[in-house]
Amino acid sequence: MKRYVAILVCIVLLVTLGACGKDGEQQSAKEVGESIKSEEILEAANESKDKTTDENQVPNNEPNNDNTTGEEKMTTTNVKDTENFYGIIFTADSDIFTRIKGKSYKDDCIVPLEDLRYLHVLHVGFDGQTHEGEIICNKAIAEDLLEIFEQLYEAGYQIEKIKLVDEYNAEDEASMADNNSSNFNFRFISHTTKISKHGSGMAIDINPLYNPYIKTVNGNLNIEPANSIPYVDRTADFPHKIDETDLAYQLFTAHGFSWGGAWNSSKDYQHFEK
Ligand SMILES: [Zn+2]
Repeated sequence: MKRYVAILVCIVLLVTLGACGKDGEQQSAKEVGESIKSEEILEAANESKDKTTDENQVPNNEPNNDNTTGEEKMTTTNVKDTENFYGIIFTADSDIFTRIKGKSYKDDCIVPLEDLRYLHVLHVGFDGQTHEGEIICNKAIAEDLLEIFEQLYEAGYQIEKIKLVDEYNAEDEASMADNNSSNFNFRFISHTTKISKHGSGMAIDINPLYNPYIKTVNGNLNIEPANSIPYVDRTADFPHKIDETDLAYQLFTAHGFSWGGAWNSSKDYQHFEK
């Protein structure tokens, strides 16, 4: 029996010595606990990183990033190329609103944001190349505009620029003079409390430099933009002129829009409204 006890003592001693011999690898219970804890944190962090990566992975054919704050893709029924022609519903948290706040969406704007849509379209520029266009419009005509701009694009109809008027600090004259086609810009009709058609996002101007707004005020011809004088004579033949034979005229009127070129008191050849 003594012999067994001696052997047992030896084994215990050997084991203890062996353990002690592993210098540097010995970890206190506290250290072991911390190590497990930090491994768990790292693992959790990686898991969360993986998750974030997955969430950020937007398919190439999906233009709307669902993670974008305050922006949600609009459902469209008659648009064929929804990757390039799509609408966004946006809120005050969105980057879109940041771009228009205090500019086209003026501080006195009474049009609720939920009534507006941001549209992404493609268009053929005067260089014959494809360009991206941005439009803010009323939700009531959002689907019409997506369809019309898709048809204009497919037909190769040339529109020089489709930028938000905010890029011109919401100054209409500057936007028109640069031949920019645009829609929403909040304003009341002069000396009234009635919102203008552009103010509610219900009107759009196409190639305005070539299709001016002309009105006779006190016997004087008022032309906007001011640099569009060469295009005031509508009997003259020049490119980008909107008249009844023009495709934009035909598509807009087919979608129920009225054309400013048909007005009597003034002529607004660039203008379509609903
Ligand atoms: Zn207009």
